[in-house]
Amino acid sequence: MTQAEDLYRLQEVDLNILQRQKRLDEIKALMADNQAVQAANDNLNQIRAVLTPLQKRARQLEQEIQTNTNKIQQTDETLYSGRVRNPKEMQDMQQEIASLKKRNSELEDILLETMMQVDETEAQEDAAEAVLQTATQAHEEANVHLIQEQTELRKERAEWIHVREQMLPAIDAEALKIYNTLRPRKNNQPVALLVNRSCSACRVELDMAVANEVRKAQKITYCTSCGRILAYKSG
Ligand SMILES: [Zn+2]
Repeated sequence: MTQAEDLYRLQEVDLNILQRQKRLDEIKALMADNQAVQAANDNLNQIRAVLTPLQKRARQLEQEIQTNTNKIQQTDETLYSGRVRNPKEMQDMQQEIASLKKRNSELEDILLETMMQVDETEAQEDAAEAVLQTATQAHEEANVHLIQEQTELRKERAEWIHVREQMLPAIDAEALKIYNTLRPRKNNQPVALLVNRSCSACRVELDMAVANEVRKAQKITYCTSCGRILAYKSG
């Protein structure tokens, strides 16, 4: 096997490794991309940011109403216990009861309205939770397939890397250096084949003299058009 042929085989192995690496990078990005889950989660958090203060407000109103009710009861009991005889004091107490009852009536209206808002927002919360659950499930299911593909690709990549390691000792050091230098400049394809008299990469027809040098393969010959190493595959 000629140096150029060795390099061509190496290139095929490298392209196989690269192809798997590219898909593995894609899978990694796909698995990290959970926009739908993120959006559903953000929506749920927004609803809860509204719901929590509403629930707190409802509890405060209930407490305030209860406190007032207790106060009304106590004052009422004191008033009818016969312990208070001073008419002015009795009048004050009656006034306090009336004022607390009026206040409670107002608070009950506010509580009712608040409870309706709580109910409405809780229904929104339930719907948002369902959306989040669906999105999370879809993401997990998609990942199951991606994880399977990832496992397979990693195995294949390891196999190709092993093939490469076994090939390397047989490749001429100087030729390998040229290959490695050209590789990034030629989009990972620094080696082309001579097909009839043309370069398989750029399709340009080469001079007979160049084509003959490639066939003889006594030294590394480059395509005069694209600059790639040319390999001649006999048979
Ligand atoms: Zn070329």
